[in-house]
Amino acid sequence: MSKTTTPAPPSEGEPIIKICDLHKSFGETKVLNGISLDIRKGEVVVVLGPSGSGKSTLLRCLNRLEQPTSGKIIFEGQDICAAKTDVNDVRKRMGMVFQQFNLFPHLDAVHNVMLAQEKVLKRPRAEARRIALKELERVGLAERSDYYPDELSGGQQQRVAIARALSMEPHVMLFDEATSALDPELVRGVLDVMRELAQGGMTMVVVTHEMSFARDVADRVIFMEGGVVVEDGAPEQLFEHPKSERTRAFIGQVT
Ligand code: ADP
Ligand code: MG
Repeated sequence: MSKTTTPAPPSEGEPIIKICDLHKSFGETKVLNGISLDIRKGEVVVVLGPSGSGKSTLLRCLNRLEQPTSGKIIFEGQDICAAKTDVNDVRKRMGMVFQQFNLFPHLDAVHNVMLAQEKVLKRPRAEARRIALKELERVGLAERSDYYPDELSGGQQQRVAIARALSMEPHVMLFDEATSALDPELVRGVLDVMRELAQGGMTMVVVTHEMSFARDVADRVIFMEGGVVVEDGAPEQLFEHPKSERTRAFIGQVT
């Protein structure tokens, strides 16, 4: 392959998301206290931090489930905090997977994956179905497309939720503790899907306590505490040579 056709490594190039001095308060409670971060196309950023440090709030601001109190989020060149921003359009381009999978219990897997495609993207039924089956295959559930949520394990349900998000063809995927509600033996299947997605070049922001995933898959690891970024660096640096005592203590507790 000639040099000119080699894709730029994720550490180079324009950021796909630029977060500038982001603040979020709920009443008197200051949850985010000035977060500034650039996330580049194709980059996998793992966010670590103790409970209550603001990780979920950060992700929720990114896809506008929360309105930031101040600061800016530029996503694909657009200020998504601006009043005129179409929130649904932002969410189409930024998929999110939660700890709770929230599948519709009365719909089988393929119809769970078809629903938002039809309602939000207005895709014709046959096309939505074709894409749903393709995404279910990608998460290893081709054989389970007609199973209902209560006939699937937690890990399989979470993979349906990932397929549902992917079917919207997002440019960025956010994962908020996607494996935290799963029995330990089901975690691996979900992490394998996330790992493949990362290797396929998806831009991902992943809140997780799975340190092996952070070490192996992340391009960058961020440690948050008290609504600020305490440390931001390559996984080797963060795990082997943390700059701050707080990061060191946290990593010591969870590994
Ligand atoms: P993390 O995901 O790191 O555990 P969160 O972002 O969920 O942290 O929460 C950070 C802090 O913000 C917590 O103290 C939490 O109680 C508070 N918080 C989060 N959401 C709300 C809300 N909707 N109203 C009031 N407080 C909230
Ligand atoms: Mg959280």
